[in-house]
Formats: sequence, structure tokens, C-alpha cells
Amino acid sequence: MNSQDHVLLLGTSGGPRWRRTRSGISTAVVVGGDVYLVDCGYGAGAQLSRSGHSPARLRAVLVTHLHSDHTADLANLLLYGWYEGLEDVVAPVTCLGPPSRGSFPDVAADGGRVPRLVRPEEPAPGFTAMVRHLGAAYATDLNDRMRDTRRRDPRELLTVADIELPEGLVIDPDHDAAPDVEPWVVLEDDRVRVTATLVQHAPMAPAFAFRFDTDSGSVVVSGDTGPCENLVRLATGADVLVHEVIDEEYVARAYENGRTAQQRAMIAHHLSAHTTVPQVGQIAERAGVRTLVLSHFVPGDIDVPRWHEAAKHFSGELVIGEDLQRVPIAAP
Ligand SMILES: [Zn+2]
Repeated sequence: MNSQDHVLLLGTSGGPRWRRTRSGISTAVVVGGDVYLVDCGYGAGAQLSRSGHSPARLRAVLVTHLHSDHTADLANLLLYGWYEGLEDVVAPVTCLGPPSRGSFPDVAADGGRVPRLVRPEEPAPGFTAMVRHLGAAYATDLNDRMRDTRRRDPRELLTVADIELPEGLVIDPDHDAAPDVEPWVVLEDDRVRVTATLVQHAPMAPAFAFRFDTDSGSVVVSGDTGPCENLVRLATGADVLVHEVIDEEYVARAYENGRTAQQRAMIAHHLSAHTTVPQVGQIAERAGVRTLVLSHFVPGDIDVPRWHEAAKHFSGELVIGEDLQRVPIAAP
């Protein structure tokens, strides 16, 4: 056990928005000084630098799902990280993320006109394809710098793979993206054992939550999800649960309290893919976690006193997360 091991909230805002008081969602699990990063929202690399951790200590980057607010700083982390210590990693950084969902059905969430697909020949690249495409987009920079200054080949610094679903499990991304599943191991090394589960963030699919079991204790990061039995199972007995939260009153206001059928559909859609203040407390209580850390705040730019109301439903320690906050993994 190491009392220094902690969860480090690099960014705590949800949604593809620039917020003045919170960076984009990114959570680090720091074990024995090594850094395991979950999601790379806007500002993740700069926040890692501000926290005093070097990319040289990056062991893994895990992406819960492929929404831009969870991936926008991935290229930045790798390209700037290349100059900020990534070249000194002892072993290639394991980078894991979701496989492709396959295709998209010809429907729109609000029932309206169906938009034309972007890149119909590959409308849903998975994580590995995304990293490959990012490398291709930056080929001029990468080749220039390797030839000009003999930087280490970045392909030697990373091991990139899609997270495979458990054998025999096939999901229907359009109708049942998070069927009941036992958590399965996606990464294991000398410091952590990481298990994953499928969570409910339709139509984005697949979407994962991760659990880190370490000698100091256990940490679960929910990713984006509506209330989901798989998440409760994954988080059962965890020391620290970092969970997303949405203010349902904000959603209602954003869609005029559902004046039209279309607005009501959008409210229902948001609330099925995210977890409200009362729900997040109830989930943490059912899972019996020691500490509930709220993060991925929607909206991310105001201090909503309601966040504290999660405590009405949860008997453990509640932390309203802030950027660069550290939460010890081990019990005090
Ligand atoms: Zn999302």
C-alpha cells in the first residue's frame, strides 16, 4: 500500500464546450508515481503538466468512448507529450479504446430529418483507426521532426489497440449496447489490474467504465452513462467511484421544459445517457463505495449547489470534484 497513490482530476467538465473554470474531462489514476489516464478531454495534456507529472511516467491511456469531449486532447497529449517526456518512457504506453460500433442506423434521436453521414465509407472508426488517422493527419509534423531533430519514432512509444469484448458477447449498438456482463480484464501489469464493463450511453456505443484494482485500493471511473446495473456491479465495494453527473433541471431548461414532442424526446434522450444528481447518490450507495467523486459536470461552468444533494442518497464521503484535485485511494 502506498499512501501517495491517488486519483487526480485533471479536468472535470462534460460536453464539447470551453469552460472558464473547468478543463475537459480527464482523470488520472496515479499508482507508485506512474500515471494511468482515463480520457483525454480538452486541456488534458496541459493539466497533466500543471499537476507536475511527466508523460515519461505514463503507463496507459484508456478512452471510455469516442465522444470528442473525451478525446479532443489525445493528439495534443501525444504530439506535445513527445517533447515533454514521452520519449523517456521505459516501455511503450498502452493505449486502449472502444472498437467501431460498425454503422449508424438511418434515424435521428429527435425523430426528425436524418443527416448525411460524414465519411460514409468508414462512418464509425474505432479507437485504433482514430489514432491511425490522427497520425496520418500529422504526418508532416511527425516526419519533419524525426528527420530534423532525430526525435524517437512515436510509433515505438505507444501500443494501440481496441478493447475487445468478452468472447462470445456481441452487442447491438442500436438497441442494446450495454447488456448484462461480468467485468473483464483489459490491462494488467505490476501496479494495476484494470477491468471494464459496458455502460449505457446510447447511441454512442460501445461505451466503457473502468475499474483499477491496486495494492492501495480500488478506483472506478464511470465514463458517460445513464443508470446502469453493469456500473453498479463494477463499482461494488470500490474505495473511490468517480462518476459523471448531469443537472436534470438544466436539461429541462435547455429544452424549454419539453414544450414540444421533439423537445421532450431530447430531454428523455439526455437523461437516459447520463446520470442525475439523485441517481448518482443512489448508485454509489447501492455499490457501497467509500468515496463518491462527482466529475464530468453538465453544465460545467457554474457551481450548481444541487451537486451537494447527491449526499441525500449516499451515506459515504461525497467529493464535488475540482480540476487538479487529488483524492487518496487508500482509506484514511
Ligand atoms: Zn459522451
